[in-house]
Parts: sequence; C-alpha cells; structure tokens
Amino acid sequence: MAQASPTPLRAASPVPQAAPAGAAEAGAAAVRLEGIRKTFGDVVAVAGVDLDVKAGEFFSLLGPSGCGKTTCLRMIAGFEEPTAGRILLQGRDVSRLPAYLRDVNTVFQDYALFPHMTVGANVEYGLMVKRIGRAERRTRVHDALQMMRLERLDRRKPGELSGGQRQRVALARALVNQPRVLLLDEPLGALDLKLRQQMQIELKGIQERLRMTFIYVTHDQEEALTMSDRMAVMNQGRVEQVGSPAEVYEQPSTSFVAGFVGASNVLSGAAARSISGQELAFTVRPEKIRLASIEERALPDECTATGRVREVVYVGAFTRYIVDLDLGGELVVLQQNLTMSSMEVLEARGRAVRLLWNRQHNRTITETERRPAAAQDEKTQLEGEG
Ligand code: ATP
Repeated sequence: MAQASPTPLRAASPVPQAAPAGAAEAGAAAVRLEGIRKTFGDVVAVAGVDLDVKAGEFFSLLGPSGCGKTTCLRMIAGFEEPTAGRILLQGRDVSRLPAYLRDVNTVFQDYALFPHMTVGANVEYGLMVKRIGRAERRTRVHDALQMMRLERLDRRKPGELSGGQRQRVALARALVNQPRVLLLDEPLGALDLKLRQQMQIELKGIQERLRMTFIYVTHDQEEALTMSDRMAVMNQGRVEQVGSPAEVYEQPSTSFVAGFVGASNVLSGAAARSISGQELAFTVRPEKIRLASIEERALPDECTATGRVREVVYVGAFTRYIVDLDLGGELVVLQQNLTMSSMEVLEARGRAVRLLWNRQHNRTITETERRPAAAQDEKTQLEGEG
C-alpha cells in the first residue's frame, strides 16, 4: 500500500490517515474479520471469528495458549492466508494481499532484530526497503528513537542492550513506518514483572498520543485489562466475548470468560437455585464477597451461603480464601488485609463461615460448551480444561 506523506512521530502528531483513492471506506473499521477460519491439516486454529477493531483503538486478543490469537494476528499481517472468510483494512479486502502490501506492522515477542546492525540501522531498515529518501529517513528515525528514549543508544548493537531496551528498538522499528495498524504479539512476554508493568504504561501512552490502532495479543488477563480500550476473549478458536475491560470483568457472558478473566466463581444447579432463587448459572467476583462469622444474618438485598474454608492463600495486601459451600460447589473470596497479620489469616483454614454479598453483583452466564476432541489438537484440549 502506498505510504501517505511523512509525519514526524512527535507526541502531538497524528498518524497519517490518507489512503489510496477509492481503496478505503469512510468510517469503516480499521480492521474487520469476517467469518475467519484457519485450519492446519485437521487442527482448527481459528474456528470462525467476526471482529471489528475501530481506528485508534487499543484492542487486545486475550486467551489461553493455543486458542488461536497469534494465528488471527498473522492472518491480519498477511503471514497466513485464511482458509475461509475475509480480512478488511479500512474497508478494503486485503485477504489475498501479500504482507508487504498491507499497511500494518508487527512487533514480535522475540523482537526479531538484526543482530549485526546498530540500533539506528535496525530502525532505518524498513524505510530503506521502501526507498524513502535519506533526509526524510534521518528525521523519521530520529523521531522514532526519541519517542522510545533511545537516542543515546543508536550506535549500539542489539546484543549490547537490556531486554527492555531491545523491546523499545523493536517498537521504534515498527512505529517509524507509521502504519495504520500495529500488531503486537506478546511483546512484553520476555520482560520481568516490574519492567513489563512499566512498559505497559509506556506503550499505552504512546498509542494514545499517536492515536494509532493497536492489536495486542496476550494470555495475561491483567495486561489486557490494564491496557485495552476493548478486548476479545478467545477460547478454542472462537471469540467468547468482546467488550471493554470493565464489561468483560464485571459482566462475563460465559463460564469460560468468568474463569479466565478473574477467578472462576460459577454457581449452578441446586446451589444457584438455593442462593439466588433462580435455576440459571451465575458468577460473582471474589472481591464482592464478604467473609463473615456463621452467626451473621444477611440483609434483605444480600445473598448468603455457608461453608468451610478449605484453603487460605496469603498474598501480602490481600488474602484469597477458597470456601467449600454446604450446598455443594465452592467460592473464592478475596479480602483485603486491613488489620490481620499473615498468622491470623492462616488460622481461618477449616473454619465454618458465612459468605455475604449484594445480589446486584450476581451475573447470569451461559456455561461454555466443549467442542468435540476431533477438531482440536491435544495441546488445545488440555489447556481448555485448565
Ligand atoms: P500461544 O499463546 O501459545 O502463542 P495462541 O493462542 O497464539 O497460543 P496459535 O499460535 O494461534 O495460538 O495456535 C492455535 C492452534 O493452532 C494451536 O493448537 C497450534 O498448535 C496450532 N497451530 C498454529 N500454527 C500452526 C502450524 N503452522 N501448523 C500446525 N498447527 C498450528
């Protein structure tokens, strides 16, 4: 796809929005997947996905290992061809277009930097391939390095950098091309927790300043919740739910989403009927539940259940209690450690307790169906059960 006129990657500068005449539909989604399916032999990697990603959105694909996230991303990038369905960028069908003609760039988990080239040369490389003039290359490389705080490292080679710095070079190398859409495949996976959290904030800041469309693949629910404007939760090659982080967390629509994004607190059957007065399965988030003494009575707008604490996990700022309910099933309860010490919380193990929560926190869900094993490889099956 032809490049729009160059715009420096400065904080306030928007990403160029021009497209070849007649190619893009005004107001179309930045990326649209229509009935996308991908099989490798008899392995169904992506089993029919429909998705719209809006321009300027930070959109995450979240799901367990093997659920088809990377395959979706690779099809958008043009590294894999869909078995069925269409991919549209700005309303234009690019399903059969080779990767180098799509106005997207990908940042991989392993960064894929050229080890023999300096940082500056790595960042400049894409512009050389596109035959961008020298003066413009210099400006754009300078701006990209500045944005990623790499100006002083431009003569080093990737082997002379820390993991976080290499990560920044990979981002600079993608951003310098000013793509409409940046695809990121677990780009922070190799970093330690502290650096990952710092880079999450930086990445989100850059995306907001550039108003670029980011599609971000991760299996880390916290990462997706922290960074995304919207997210799709995937399971076994399908999208189970799309929504803002708050919608997905607060109102999970299926038992899979309830369990994958947060703890799986699903009550069904006799326990659901007895507690909520309804047959339908429901979920309630662990931090909404209060652990009380068995004598305490529920208020009119509260749900209640009695049980026995089976497990206590002390996590510093809070404690996670797993309670076996007298009605059958279990609930996980999160309590802030406001006054209790680790010794005191551990003493709760084995204790009979009453759980209380406001009934407005109950969310009715549909129980995720399991697909027959024939369509999936062994890896996906095992992880789907996890
Ligand atoms: P992860 O988080 O582990 O990267 P993922 O959600 O990105 O997982 P994919 O890499 O998209 O999952 O893989 C989806 C399914 O397709 C898996 O069962 C995988 O083994 C299979 N698969 C992916 N690529 C190929 C391939 N080239 N050949 C055969 N099977 C493949």
